[in-house]
Amino acid sequence: MPDVMTRVLVIYTGGTIGMTLKDGKLVPTPDALVKALHKMPMLCDEEYTKVHLKDYNTLALPLTKDNKRIVYTVLEYNPLLDSSNISPDDWAKIGKDIEKNYDNFEGFVILHGTDTMAYTASALSFMCEHLCKPIIVTGSQVPIYQLRNDGRDNLQGAVLIAGQFDIPEVCLYFYNQLFRGNRVTKVNAESFDAFTSPNLDPLAIAEADIIINKHIVRPPDHTAKFHVSTQLNRNVGLLRLFPGITTATVKAFLQPPMKGVVLETYGCGNAPDNRPELLAALKMATDSGVIIMNVTQCLKGTVSDSYATGEALKKAGLIAGGDMTQEAALSKLSYVLAKGIDLSVKRELMGKNLRGEMSEVQKTKLSLSDGRFIQVIARCLSINDKEKLEAIREALTPPLACAAARIGDIEALKDTNFSLSDYDGRTPLHIAACEGHLKVVEYLLDHGVTISVTDRYGATPLGNAVRFRHKEVVRLLRKAGAQLFTDELDKAGTELCSLTASGDLEGLKMWELAGADLNQPGYNGQTPLELAHDLGKKEVRAFLKQLKKPK
Ligand code: ASP
Repeated sequence: MPDVMTRVLVIYTGGTIGMTLKDGKLVPTPDALVKALHKMPMLCDEEYTKVHLKDYNTLALPLTKDNKRIVYTVLEYNPLLDSSNISPDDWAKIGKDIEKNYDNFEGFVILHGTDTMAYTASALSFMCEHLCKPIIVTGSQVPIYQLRNDGRDNLQGAVLIAGQFDIPEVCLYFYNQLFRGNRVTKVNAESFDAFTSPNLDPLAIAEADIIINKHIVRPPDHTAKFHVSTQLNRNVGLLRLFPGITTATVKAFLQPPMKGVVLETYGCGNAPDNRPELLAALKMATDSGVIIMNVTQCLKGTVSDSYATGEALKKAGLIAGGDMTQEAALSKLSYVLAKGIDLSVKRELMGKNLRGEMSEVQKTKLSLSDGRFIQVIARCLSINDKEKLEAIREALTPPLACAAARIGDIEALKDTNFSLSDYDGRTPLHIAACEGHLKVVEYLLDHGVTISVTDRYGATPLGNAVRFRHKEVVRLLRKAGAQLFTDELDKAGTELCSLTASGDLEGLKMWELAGADLNQPGYNGQTPLELAHDLGKKEVRAFLKQLKKPK
């Protein structure tokens, strides 16, 4: 007996995967797929299925490498559809079937035609609220009955993932890749490699092993019971800009009952800003409550605020759709517009990431102590292990804290252990003192950093501030009790003589401010005053002399 058994519901809506040729054309064929699956060893463990599973539509996959048994039940729709005929009513039916069977299965696979698969995957991603189980949409480019086809691999991969992994998202599986459903678009009508997710890496790659990109997978939403929201507003549309599009066309498109439009703009979200009548038409529509999303026509990239031509659309009341696909933007509009909430809240939701459909813009800077900071690094390094993350944090914090001090970034420094030093024993206080960042020095002193710490060259922050001539920093450090280190003082005589020789009064005053004795002899035993006398540096001599007086 296997160690574990999991159950997957396969909802078969139609699509090429189960089509056969009729009068030379591919058409969906009822009652044929399950029969064929029973004869496919990679999709049916014949013996186990015969002995243990009484229902003809329930089949068992052969045991997995780690002895897991996945049993799947096919729920065939009537009629089966070419996905060009799919409508929001079908999405609602699929959603409700998942909801009905939610507690009886560990995962769900939806067999679907490829033509509108990205729309269905996007729509379901929004409709499924508080999802904690995988829902994987798949299909094929070539019917499963043909000698060379992609249906067998796609179906097996989808069932294997749905039955084994905690990926609580609506996904699309195709050609060995598991994508987030609302990130994909169909890009090839012929190749097995039909889909792409231009702005997000796959959630998993299924080659010899199935490798999950855990850092991308969204967490389950346990905040409430799973629910499928079948209310969708159908008064939505996609409008693609092109040079010369007439204002009349745009106006006609925006007429009631239109409620939401995805405007496919150029590049980073640009439209002509030399067409006031066109912009006025857009503005009139948004003023009257139509939500218009600005989404790029480009396959890859995001709507940004780099160009004046994009700014014009913002002024016309359009909402930036970030890096959403057109399919995701359209179904999100349909879903959000159907909610019984104020228009302002709908607009707000449209600009927000709801189901991982858009990359969030990093508005606030990351703080070094912030968990997100280390997550971002971990993500880049693909690390998931807690201990390793801590080790990374420990290793990275000191140099990064110093880097933050260098650019005067107090926000990034907040709550960090600022007394940690880098490989040269330099602390953020050293760096801030060198750079003359008075505010950072103030912040660090207020937060109790060690003042009289020396780096590997024996330098203190005060010594650094003197060397880089940041008078106010020297004053502040002195006020806080900072003192020059013996090593620095020992070398001071020679340094003072050198300043004297070059008549550098300002440099000498800096040392005085730091509390150094300016009468110290240099390497040859001569004091700065004697040297000033010998070299005829009158001003320096006068300064040094008056220093001597009180003694
Ligand atoms: N026309 C088919 C459909 O979308 C294409 C396919 O499944 O690949 O249903």
